[in-house]
Amino acid sequence: MTDLGQRIAGLIAAQGPISIAQFLTLALHDRAAGYYATRDPIGAAGDFITAPEISQMFGELIGLWLAQAWEDQGKPARPRLVELGPGRGTLMADALRALKLVPAFRDSVDVVLVEASPVLRAAQRDALQDSGVAIRWADDFNSIPTDRPLFLVANEFFDALPIQQYVKSERGWCERMVTLDEAGALAFALSPVAISNAMVPANRDGAPRGGVYEYAAAGEALMEEIAHVIAAQGGAAIAIDYGYDTPGFGETLQAVASHKFAGVLSEPGANDLSAHVDFTALGDAAVRGGASVCGPVGQGELLMALGIVQRAENLARGLAGPATRSSYHLDDYPELRAALDRLVLPDQMGTLFKALAIVPKNAPTPPGF
Ligand code: SAH
Repeated sequence: MTDLGQRIAGLIAAQGPISIAQFLTLALHDRAAGYYATRDPIGAAGDFITAPEISQMFGELIGLWLAQAWEDQGKPARPRLVELGPGRGTLMADALRALKLVPAFRDSVDVVLVEASPVLRAAQRDALQDSGVAIRWADDFNSIPTDRPLFLVANEFFDALPIQQYVKSERGWCERMVTLDEAGALAFALSPVAISNAMVPANRDGAPRGGVYEYAAAGEALMEEIAHVIAAQGGAAIAIDYGYDTPGFGETLQAVASHKFAGVLSEPGANDLSAHVDFTALGDAAVRGGASVCGPVGQGELLMALGIVQRAENLARGLAGPATRSSYHLDDYPELRAALDRLVLPDQMGTLFKALAIVPKNAPTPPGF
């Protein structure tokens, strides 16, 4: 077991079982040994790869989506551009470059990056130092003032927030906790006491015994808060993530290391831990916050509607150079073609990844939704 695993075991030995959410918070964010606190996990040499790292087209189109939403709402003064969990800063760098096409937006935005990890903050600073735009950082969304129209993007952020699990047992819905087995290793066990059925959404009513309900308390509270600001100040948010919009009864909490699945409890701090996003619950939270919800739509559908094929063709034309410009073809650029396919095809990221947008009530529907 990792040192952090031993520390968590010590905590459980002293205090009793902890919730999965507590376990995830320690495993991901412990200052000395947490997964995000101590490394840059993204990319071929890391544990997972994300859409902005696959192609510049992703961040460019998202940046222009945000500017379009701003234009559709009458170009409100002093917009704030926020990204949650910006990773290496690639999406924001690509977005700000594309936004040179919309200087009135680019020149007036207050850019704030919400990032918990000091390692990734440093990577973001490097990626954005030549962007020509002043960047600020915040530890969490709630510390950002709520005095301006909010334009927000979160790519693969909500999946990284802690969840709790409840399992349907003969006693009702019981929380799954992290405890110790006979040998002193971390192990799952059900709380003996059931929670009130009222705490479980109605769409889980038909759960069989053993069915699992994953509750993303932190993600729902955050989405409600974002919606609240957008309802009051104007703006738009887009959250893109892997997840489901028709809740099942299986569990989705997973550990990934070096692009392979691993045990959730096996190496706290050394594996990426995440859960699929429940888009129905996220949308409901935004409605509670007073905003209007669009989608979710598949990532492929969204990017196609935003013109990703045309953008890929433009990039291919640029790569072709003046001599061959008239006879270029996307398929002559296998890396570009592969990146496009990966982002949009249904058997790749196109349907498992979904996008949910929120705007003020009565605002125009944003592009692609
Ligand atoms: N959006 C990026 C990175 C996704 S990984 C991309 O698409 O490449 C998740 C990101 O969220 C990382 O930057 C991680 O450090 C950050 N993060 C995770 N939990 C967080 C939290 N509770 N508060 C702030 N940032 C968090």
